[in-house]
Amino acid sequence: MSFDLIIRNTTLACMTDAQPYGLLERGALGVKDGKIVWLGPDQDFPVEFPACPVIDASGMVVTAGLVDCHSHVVHVGDGLLDFELKITGATRDEIAAAGGGVGGLVARSRAASEEQLYCETVPRIKAMIASGITTLESKSGLGLDLASELNVMRVSRALARDFPLDVQSTFLGAHGVAPEYKDRADDYIDFLIERILPAAVQQGLVDAVDGFCDSIGFSPAQMTRLFEAASSHGLPVKLHADQYTDAGAGQVVARFNGLSADHLEYASKATIAAMAEAGVVAGLLPGANWMLRETQMPPVHWMRELGVEMALATNNNPISSPVTMPTMMMNMGCVRFGLTAEEAVAAFTRVGAKALGMAADRGTLEVGKVADLVIWDVTHPGELPYRIAHNPCHTTIKAGAVCYQAAPTRLQ
Ligand SMILES: [Zn+2]
Repeated sequence: MSFDLIIRNTTLACMTDAQPYGLLERGALGVKDGKIVWLGPDQDFPVEFPACPVIDASGMVVTAGLVDCHSHVVHVGDGLLDFELKITGATRDEIAAAGGGVGGLVARSRAASEEQLYCETVPRIKAMIASGITTLESKSGLGLDLASELNVMRVSRALARDFPLDVQSTFLGAHGVAPEYKDRADDYIDFLIERILPAAVQQGLVDAVDGFCDSIGFSPAQMTRLFEAASSHGLPVKLHADQYTDAGAGQVVARFNGLSADHLEYASKATIAAMAEAGVVAGLLPGANWMLRETQMPPVHWMRELGVEMALATNNNPISSPVTMPTMMMNMGCVRFGLTAEEAVAAFTRVGAKALGMAADRGTLEVGKVADLVIWDVTHPGELPYRIAHNPCHTTIKAGAVCYQAAPTRLQ
C-alpha cells in the first residue's frame, strides 16, 4: 500500500459506535488522495518504511475534523456596544435607540462592501482552523436586502475557495423582517421567495435555507411558505427554532425532513418527538444561551429519551455568540446543558456532519471518509470539553494536507 501521509502511535477517537468515543488506543491511520485508506492498530500497519511524511502523534488524540454546523461568521463590526449596554441592564429598546441591536447590524451590513466583509471575516476563519474546524456552515441574514444577502453568500464561497475548509452557504434572509417591510412580514417572505432566493440559486451561492421561527420571529405558516420554495429549488432546510418561546418551529423542520432545528430552549416534547421521527438534528447553541443569560435550557433529557441527535456549534455572531472555539462550546454544552463529554465531542464531529447532511463522507474516522483530521494535545478525548476556554488543537489536516500546526512539527 502507498500513502501520502501517515499518523502513528496515537489514540484514535473514531466517534463510531463500537465503544466510548470509538476509541482505538495505539492506533495508526494512513491517508491517500485526501481520504483515509487505512486505520487500525499501529502494530498491524502494513508499511515498514513508507516514502511519505509520518507524524508520530504519541501521547495525543486524533479526531475527525470538527464540523461547525451553525455560524454567522461573515459579518462586519462587533457587538461591543450591545455588550456594554446589556451587562448594565439596558433593555432591547434602549440598545436599539443607542444604535445597537438588529437595526445597527442591518445598517452596518448593508454599508459593507464584499471586500470588507471578506477581510473582516478572515481572522475568524483562521482562528477556527486553528481550533480544529475543517467544515463550517455560514449564514447570510444580516443585511436583509438583495445586494447584501448575495454579498455574504459570495464571501462564503470565496472563503471556501481561499482557505482549507469546506463552507456550506445557508440563505437566512428570514432572519428578521427588513426595515422597509416593517409590519409586513408576509410581503417580506414573498420578496425572499420571488427575488433573493432565485437570484442566489441562479448564481450557485446557496446550499440550504434557514429562518427564525419564534413568537418574535416568523410564524410556522410563513416558514412553511419559504420551505416550499426551498424545496422547489431542491434545497434542504433548517431553522432557528423555539429559542424564546414554544412556537412548534422544530415541527416545521420535521415536516420538511430538514437538517436541523437549532436553539430549542423552549421546544415541547411533541416537537422533540416530531424531530426524532423525521431524523432532524438538534443544533444546541450554548454561546447564545450564556450571553443572553437565558435560564431555560434545551430539553436534552427528551432528546436522549426520544432519540434526537445533538450537535453543538459556535453560532459565531457579533451580538450573542462572539466565539470561535469549539472546545469552549463543548464545555458549555456539558456544564450548562448536561451533555456527557462523549456527547459533546460527537456533537462537533459525527452529529455536526449529520446536521449539514454531510455524514456520508466526514464526521468520523473510518476508511473511505475524507481525511479531515485534528491532532489534539490531550491524552483522552474527554479533555476536549473538560478544560474551560482551552484550545489544545495541535495540528489541523484538511483532505490529507496539514494546514495548521500549533507547535514545531514532529514529522519524521
Ligand atoms: Zn444563528
